[in-house]
Amino acid sequence: MMFDHLFRNARLPGRGEAVDLGIRHGRFVAVEPAIEAAMPGEDLGGRLVVPGLVETHLHLDKACLFGRCACGSNVQEAIAAVAGAKRGFTEDDVYERASRALERAILQGTTRIRTHVEVDPRIGLTSFRALKRLKADYAWAVDLELCAFPQEGLLDDPGCEEVLEAALLEGADLVGGVPYVDKDRNGQIARIFALARRFDVDIDFHLDFDLDPADASLFEVCRMAEATGWQGRVAIGHVTKLSAMAPEAFASAAKRLREAGVAVTVLPATDLFLTGRDHDRDVPRGVAHAHRLAAMGVTCSISTNNVLNPFTPYGDCSLIRMANLYANVAQVSDETDLATCLDLVTGSSARLMRLDGYGIAPGHAADMVVLDASSPAEAVATLAPPLFGLKAGRRTFERPAPRLLREA
Ligand SMILES: [Zn+2]
Repeated sequence: MMFDHLFRNARLPGRGEAVDLGIRHGRFVAVEPAIEAAMPGEDLGGRLVVPGLVETHLHLDKACLFGRCACGSNVQEAIAAVAGAKRGFTEDDVYERASRALERAILQGTTRIRTHVEVDPRIGLTSFRALKRLKADYAWAVDLELCAFPQEGLLDDPGCEEVLEAALLEGADLVGGVPYVDKDRNGQIARIFALARRFDVDIDFHLDFDLDPADASLFEVCRMAEATGWQGRVAIGHVTKLSAMAPEAFASAAKRLREAGVAVTVLPATDLFLTGRDHDRDVPRGVAHAHRLAAMGVTCSISTNNVLNPFTPYGDCSLIRMANLYANVAQVSDETDLATCLDLVTGSSARLMRLDGYGIAPGHAADMVVLDASSPAEAVATLAPPLFGLKAGRRTFERPAPRLLREA
């Protein structure tokens, strides 16, 4: 067989034996042990290969604001700080900051991203149009989908729904909501579902971002998903209320989410930074247990959310770091659960986003990232760096492994 690229001795998540990967015309054409070919191929030394990391929840439009506004000590303050800074955003400014974050994500092995983008009567479509340009300009490395959403409120912000509609008419891939910023939370949920049905798009809510286990909006979202036939097309992010629920309440919430086909994204960096600020000791973590939800049949992901801004003043756009942070905070120890943490930034994330053709298999686009680890559990435990990656069969980045320079 003839290949454009042949990689030998690769390990794939969930597959025991090492395999070779043959690529031709941008697609995997052979994935099997010991492929016979006239070319020698590149030996990967038994390293783990994933089909690229998948970021399901990122805010590229407000990334890299460090130094331009104060940090929030809770989510309301962070929203207000960004709302102030947003008055000075221009399309070029958003593009420049977003491209910096996006390039970091590419260098960290991310090949698919769902980014949220704020639209409202003040910023209009400025950020949205910047990210639309970014989506086209970086298609060589990453598939970007845009989720337009009203961060500062929908029902309580007259004119916002018209801007949201305009974003959907201009090609937003899906619609998001933040029910807790409006007085009528269920009212906002109903409007977002109405827009999703009108434009036939999926939904991604910011939801239940506090530590009161009672009165969770997730049940209304589940009810609406079933009532509208949107099962499998709705994700909810943060859901820190889940971290405060007693085991029985957590289990029944998981059952509802599974039945209604509502997926959960956990955002450990922001959840740890913004929750529990009213405690002067024994600070609660506020991180919902994604690996437990996943074991109960809920589609889940772990994601970055914010980078260097009032919601999270840290960030290198590394999903491997996010999986490790989550594992540490959720006190994950056994090998199966550590492997799940890698799945929560790869395969499970791809299912949440309903991505077609994701995975290392013949016929699929040759998207692959080589991690410096031999197994999924090791990749999470050791923060395995990505060494290089391909998008549709073309090398998009390299990070050569560091080496020791010993005495002669
Ligand atoms: Zn978010």
